[in-house]
Amino acid sequence: MLKQEPFKPENYYILAVDDISTNLKLLRVILEPIGYSLTFAKGGHQAIERLKTSKPDLILLDLMMPEMNGLEVCKRLKSDPEYADIPIIFLTASNEQEHIVDAFELGAVDYINKPFKAPELLARIRHHLLLKHTIDELKSTQIELENALAEVQKLANTDPLTGVLNRRSLFDFAHQEFNRVIRYGPSFSILLMDLDYFKKVNDNYGHQVGDIALCTVVKSIKNTIRNVDFLGRYGGEEFMAILPETYGEQALILAERIRKMVASNIIETDRGNLRLSISIGVSTYSIKDRSLDDMILRADKGVYQAKQQGRNNCCLV
Ligand code: GH3
Ligand code: MG
Ligand code: MG
Repeated sequence: MLKQEPFKPENYYILAVDDISTNLKLLRVILEPIGYSLTFAKGGHQAIERLKTSKPDLILLDLMMPEMNGLEVCKRLKSDPEYADIPIIFLTASNEQEHIVDAFELGAVDYINKPFKAPELLARIRHHLLLKHTIDELKSTQIELENALAEVQKLANTDPLTGVLNRRSLFDFAHQEFNRVIRYGPSFSILLMDLDYFKKVNDNYGHQVGDIALCTVVKSIKNTIRNVDFLGRYGGEEFMAILPETYGEQALILAERIRKMVASNIIETDRGNLRLSISIGVSTYSIKDRSLDDMILRADKGVYQAKQQGRNNCCLV
């Protein structure tokens, strides 16, 4: 529910446009005592100039003016995104149906015939200002909701510790890439990365240091892969990267770079310096793969082989 605050004319600023000074004076006499702030323009060009210095909440626009008539002024303002949302009320002696229809078609919110009665003018101005205020509030609520939704979606897809994709979202991207390659080819690769002896890290340095170590490793991996690659947390101390348009030896070279980077990290702790290493299994899509699971299974074999070879290793399977 939107909160309706009491209407305060002094919060609103109105631009009145008319080529006849006595008409502008009359508007001043009616509107100023109520509390509205006013500014005046004696023609279309002057009105447009006025807008450049301050944006009114509403425009009272005479229709028939020399040089540029009110309809032309309205048309110009409605075609400029900067001013298009300012409500325009036509004030005119013209009673022609065609003018009334044109005014509304050009985006005016109301049309008042001269001579007008002051209470009616005030009631219409107030109505349109309130309406505009409500629309503005709805728009900003919508923006807030969209931002909140984007934030929720981001949280739902992110691993809270490391900030990379969580397992569910990682698999979404992996399936998407698998399906894309089946349709458009040619291939892509997967890196499955498992930290070596990580249990010992927790045992020797504590869980908190273990967490910091995981974040450090993620930073190293992120610095090595490309923006178009996807990185996610596959499990506790296991990460997966999906590398579109990267195949075989190329993927293995990247894995080697990650391995070296992780091995070169020194994490300073209360209990001395901590060094890590990682074992990486690499698999590249081949026509024989019937599902993503086939590729993951091979990457997993790669990790197993890397561990068998003494860890701190990369294996392409
Ligand atoms: P290996 O070289 O064979 O991979 O040995 P490992 O000790 O890394 O393997 P294992 O799978 O036995 O142990 C993984 C460890 O990772 C155990 C678990 O406590 C730790 N771990 C998993 N998730 C987290 C986490 O979020 N934070 C911390 N600090 N440790 C974690
Ligand atoms: Mg593991
Ligand atoms: Mg491990």
